[in-house]
Amino acid sequence: MKIAVYPGSFDPITNGHLSILRRGLDIFERVIVAVAVNPEKSGLFSIPERLEMINEVIANLPGASVDTFDGLLVDYVESVNSNVILRGLRAMSDFEYEFQMALMNRRLKRRVQSVFLMTDYKWFYVSSTIIKEAAALGGDTNGLVPQVVARRLREKFGLPPKTK
Ligand code: ADP
Repeated sequence: MKIAVYPGSFDPITNGHLSILRRGLDIFERVIVAVAVNPEKSGLFSIPERLEMINEVIANLPGASVDTFDGLLVDYVESVNSNVILRGLRAMSDFEYEFQMALMNRRLKRRVQSVFLMTDYKWFYVSSTIIKEAAALGGDTNGLVPQVVARRLREKFGLPPKTK
């Protein structure tokens, strides 16, 4: 069985992430969304909150599962019997960082391959950071993130529930 690991912060998961996950599932039999636990970066949502949202979103996606990891990603990948790191690419600015990480991960473990999928043009500008910035100022994030995430963002920032 071909398993891929899709690592990231997912703080919170967006439709851009989801698109990569869906398309990853067209290639791999299982894709594990692996939320990186970084004690130095607390983020907006706690790890349990992120997992809860992801679990809700992947409930109807056969082959998708969610997990957390700390330490070296390549070690985690091996521990789940995989040798594939799945990542999404948006702009050129992603490329430099992703290229550096892919080379480092390959240096750390040669048999682990990084696979990149280009984002769908619809999600080109979507990042967790920009979503949080818009939501914090009362911006409507519906259509850019799963419904559960839009609702949790409104709750987080003390905004009223969506009326329309
Ligand atoms: P990290 O903190 O490792 O950058 P993120 O949660 O921000 O993790 O992103 C995880 C992965 O998803 C990265 O490969 C990132 O490039 C990709 N990604 C994020 N947003 C999008 C998007 N809108 N379209 C495609 N890929 C995306």
